Amino acid sequence: MTATIIDGKKVAADLRAALAEKIKTLPYQPGLAVILVGDDPASAVYVRSKDKAATGVGIAPRTIRLPAATSQADLETLIRQLNDDNSVDGILLQLPLPAGLDAQSAIRLIDPAKDVDGLTPTNAGLLAAGQPALVACTPLGSMKLLESAGVSLRGARALVLGRSVLVGKPVAALLTAADATVTVAHSRTRDLAAECRRAEVLIAAVGRPEMVRGDGVADGAVVIDVGINRLADGRLVGDVAFDEVVGHAAAITPVPGGVGPMTIACLLENTLTAAIRRRA
Ligand code: NDP
Repeated sequence: MTATIIDGKKVAADLRAALAEKIKTLPYQPGLAVILVGDDPASAVYVRSKDKAATGVGIAPRTIRLPAATSQADLETLIRQLNDDNSVDGILLQLPLPAGLDAQSAIRLIDPAKDVDGLTPTNAGLLAAGQPALVACTPLGSMKLLESAGVSLRGARALVLGRSVLVGKPVAALLTAADATVTVAHSRTRDLAAECRRAEVLIAAVGRPEMVRGDGVADGAVVIDVGINRLADGRLVGDVAFDEVVGHAAAITPVPGGVGPMTIACLLENTLTAAIRRRA
């Protein structure tokens, strides 16, 4: 069996096109504020892509760059100002923050109605309670990829590799809500290999280059590879050994070009959702 390759670039482009059409019909322009503290080069690249993607669909981006030496108090004052600014529908705090700043305290201050990253305890709690929430972008994008591939989740044995607040936990909640039977594995899981081989749907979000090997995945499984790992030789690889798994999975996302583009597209979708809810 050779897997169908789930084309995240195409699914993301289709989503962006649909968002642009919808935004054109609005009597206002949704606004997205992105806070970038310090000069981490990878974060600067992500923020530029978000800025460009927002402009592309008709969202007004505003990137606020703060020096690495910014105090917690100044960061929190900025978040409060953005909460009160009616032209801002979405607030994203680019992570990681420089050492000395407390990301959790800062995130807790973001108005949940503008929390387009879905990271505030309010939105995480709503998701866990099965209520409408702004859902973290990467988990949301992963679910849209499963949907685009026509994967039937009802009753399926799903394994989420990783239990982070950013990816593992919310993706497990979304899979559960979609009626999958979900196992969450992590660094303390006993016999991880057996868990992987049992999975009909496998979501890998561990941050370990090519940890999931070809013989670790069941024939016919659907594999969503969230991992983004830069190797010493400069190559970008996922948490799944793509070349080995592609031979016998039913469907698989590549890295790059899988989940990554969906994360940004879902950020734009969340900004539109937040704008519509706030301005209704
Ligand atoms: P975290 O480091 O926060 O979490 C990693 C999780 O993987 C933890 O739960 C950890 O377990 C588990 N883990 C680590 N090593 C092992 C192991 N050997 N066996 C089993 N479980 C293990 O990472 P994130 O969730 O933030 O990100 C995961 C990956 O996804 C990264 O590569 C990241 O770059 C990528 N990513 C991609 C995005 C995209 O847009 N495509 C967006 C966000 C992240 P424990 O809890 O026990 O420590």
